[in-house]
Amino acid sequence: MDSVGVAAAAPPDAGPGPAWQSKCPWGTPNTTSISCSLADVMSEQLAKELQLEEENAAFPEVVAVAEGPFITGENIDTSSDLMLAQMLQMEFDREYDAQLRREEKKINGDSKVSISFENYRKVHPYDSDSSEDEVDWQDTRHDPYRADKPTTTPRRGFIGKGKDITTKHDEVVCGRKNTARMENFAPEFQVGDGIGMDLKLSNQVFNALKQHAYSEERRSARLHEKKEHSTAEKAVDPKTRLLLYKMVNAGMLETITGCISTGKESVVFHAYGGKSATEDKVIPPECAIKVFKTTLNEFKNRDKYIKDDYRFKDRFSKLNPRKIIRMWAEKEMHNLTRMQNAGIPCPQVVILKKHVLVMSFIGKDQIPAPKLKDVTLSSEDMKKAYYQTLNMMQQLYKECNLVHADLSEYNMLWHDGKVWLIDVSQSVEPTHPHGLEFLFRDCRNVAQFFQKGGVAEALNERELFNAVSGLSITADNEVDFQAEIEALEKMNEDHVQNHGKKLSTFSSDGDPPIYDE
Ligand code: ADP
Ligand code: MN
Repeated sequence: MDSVGVAAAAPPDAGPGPAWQSKCPWGTPNTTSISCSLADVMSEQLAKELQLEEENAAFPEVVAVAEGPFITGENIDTSSDLMLAQMLQMEFDREYDAQLRREEKKINGDSKVSISFENYRKVHPYDSDSSEDEVDWQDTRHDPYRADKPTTTPRRGFIGKGKDITTKHDEVVCGRKNTARMENFAPEFQVGDGIGMDLKLSNQVFNALKQHAYSEERRSARLHEKKEHSTAEKAVDPKTRLLLYKMVNAGMLETITGCISTGKESVVFHAYGGKSATEDKVIPPECAIKVFKTTLNEFKNRDKYIKDDYRFKDRFSKLNPRKIIRMWAEKEMHNLTRMQNAGIPCPQVVILKKHVLVMSFIGKDQIPAPKLKDVTLSSEDMKKAYYQTLNMMQQLYKECNLVHADLSEYNMLWHDGKVWLIDVSQSVEPTHPHGLEFLFRDCRNVAQFFQKGGVAEALNERELFNAVSGLSITADNEVDFQAEIEALEKMNEDHVQNHGKKLSTFSSDGDPPIYDE
């Protein structure tokens, strides 16, 4: 089906119409059929092209990745003038805005009536990132000086009697109501101080404002989507690029050669290490840079790892999305450090800057070590890898007090004749409300991998779980086993409820719970 007539086609016997037709108050129907292609109407591509055109006008492409090394000391200073100019501009804009904020504060002081400099800011509020000196938008929503909300009319729709009756259509009441409803606009949408004063918005003004708020919200979302898109395609957004550039500029990194992995949650780069600023810290000759993606989408389903992790609990609720992503990077750093201290083969942390984590590179000459799923090991090496993995899981649990929570042949690298553990941003402590479930999942992955790999000695997932955790769950089938795990987790949670403290260890045989004093 290519083409569809939109208007009604003329009747087959198109002679002079019946008498009623000439008298018809709506006149004679137009019989020329305008036909257009359904393919055109439905074309997503066309829609996309039009949208792109519009966006390109509003948000011109800025980042162009040059051939060859990604960032070096040289290509920043010479060949990438545009990038450099943009970076300087970005810093300038930020400083300018900070100055503006200071002046705004000075002028307004404690005065009840304040003048906003918002319109003079260089960085569009929707595009701004939350650098340390900026106040989170969540916080600015709370205004202790805000006047009581205007009163609303009761259910029946009017108040008063006789000629004093006031209906819900009353101009003043309606105006106040409209003002109050401005609160429902997107939090980023600036509505000024109107909510706090006795401002009456006419329906017309309110509707125009609402329309504008919605289109701004969409615009802002589109710009963000576009920027994030460029994170995937061009590897990093301008702000991350600036961070990387600073590292190269400081001499900490010599060259960032290119991207080694683009995952759902991160992009990983290879870099040659430079000289250290402090002499006691040696920068590895080759580094891996893990850039956590500053889009929340994929992280949403990971909330459960961090939200229930008491180490981060107090901070979680107060944070904005950008900071939550920095927290993932921070978590990976802390977890890697614990592992390093226990002597588990893993990348060594070099430095953490916001959502960018620099660590030692596992591999050689820019070639990353293969994942366990991608190497073919001799049966001897396979057996060695198994025992080493078992050992590492126990160390991780007992010495680091951690459960990997995403352990599988995808996050184990084979390098220098041994297994290296990576990707620990989601790792949790065993007493995390789902810690034991995560451990069981890890055990299932590991057991299956080595059993399939032909290691006859490999424990099954339940045996492995007990061997790692030191628990002795006796259930001989998966369902019961899992139920016991969940019961233990629940016991721990109840204990937290009653004592405000977690158990330091789990105990499955009815002993009184042991916990740290
Ligand atoms: P993701 O969350 O995207 O899976 P990972 O930490 O697993 O992030 O990193 C993705 C990939 O990047 C890994 O599978 C590995 O191939 C590579 N990689 C990550 N860190 C290193 C490192 N330190 N050395 C070498 N390769 C690494
Ligand atoms: Mn991974």
